[in-house]
Amino acid sequence: MELSTHYASDNYKVNVEHGALKKLDTSSYDKVIAIIDDQVLALHRERLECITSLSTVYQVTAGEKLKTLTEYSKTINEIIENGVTRKSVIVAIGGGSVGDFAGFIAATILRGIDFIQVPTTILAHDSAIGGKVGINAESGKNLIGAFKRPKAVVYDLDFLTTLPDAEKLSGFGEIIKHALLDSPETVQLLQQDFADKSKLADLDSIDYWLIKGMAQKLKVVEADEHEAGLRKVLNLGHTFGHAVEFTHHIPHGQAVMHGLLLTALLSDMDIRPLKDWFRRLGLTPVRYLPFENYYQLMLKDKKNQDGTIQFVLMDQRIQAISKERLLHAFNQLGAYDA
Ligand code: NAD
Ligand code: ZN
Repeated sequence: MELSTHYASDNYKVNVEHGALKKLDTSSYDKVIAIIDDQVLALHRERLECITSLSTVYQVTAGEKLKTLTEYSKTINEIIENGVTRKSVIVAIGGGSVGDFAGFIAATILRGIDFIQVPTTILAHDSAIGGKVGINAESGKNLIGAFKRPKAVVYDLDFLTTLPDAEKLSGFGEIIKHALLDSPETVQLLQQDFADKSKLADLDSIDYWLIKGMAQKLKVVEADEHEAGLRKVLNLGHTFGHAVEFTHHIPHGQAVMHGLLLTALLSDMDIRPLKDWFRRLGLTPVRYLPFENYYQLMLKDKKNQDGTIQFVLMDQRIQAISKERLLHAFNQLGAYDA
């Protein structure tokens, strides 16, 4: 299956299928710089030989610790020392952390060189498209970054079989987000396909949902690449989600699921059906810290305006939410969790 963007220029193709790696073409570049998740390399060494045999390989350890100025500085300096030109390409192979990190290097090295995304997680169906790349600041997630379109996205679904269950669930969190943004009927169909964690472990019918989510996201980012308006809706669940992720170090998409619950409360929805489903899917409950901790982190959210926290609600309106209202919803969430 091939998706494509529809910008005025600089479009890219998203190849999403089993065996897609065969479609990776780097023949027009003078040097291929592969930044690879070391876990993925260990698990898929043979599959990756078609790339590694042509590349200078930089192995990295995935996760938020990779998305730091320290790791960025180390890797970008190594790449420069080993030789790179404006005709070189960076290939990011791994989940969202590797894509964000390698993409930010590609955006900044020599003022920007081409890069290709080779996503290997479910979550990366979301992160590998749309052109947001970046790393974390000491005081919050994704606060240092750039907009940088990939030249291509090659999504080989054969990678997904080795994902641990916690990472399957994390990626599924973003699929749920896309379904909630689509329609209640879509959420219902998704619930039917993935009623509990055993269904998620099998990954049956996941291909359909990944493609649907990607097509949906591409439409939004094509209309509003730099998040002047519409694209903000993709942050559904992320305002509180990022604060939970940053505090409790749980996988991104699982933190977003916590964020979706708080959003449901702020949207005056009964959260029980959603919460029961999340439990059946295996979402780990989080022992929340006092509200102020998350509040301070939410104050740094990129969507904020004039010092007020902007939340995307379930009906996709973006609203300034007062501290009092947030605290009220947070208390309901905590009481339910206990
Ligand atoms: P990740 O890259 O940290 O990968 C999660 C774990 O899965 C790691 O331990 C990794 O080694 C392992 N892994 C990766 N592929 C594997 C495979 N095929 N088999 C076995 N293990 C594998 O995380 P992620 O969940 O893919 O992405 C999360 C990151 O994405 C966060 O930093 C988040 O901020 C970012 N993100 C970015 C965007 C964007 O638009 N740029 C969107 C959503 C999320
Ligand atoms: Zn996300």
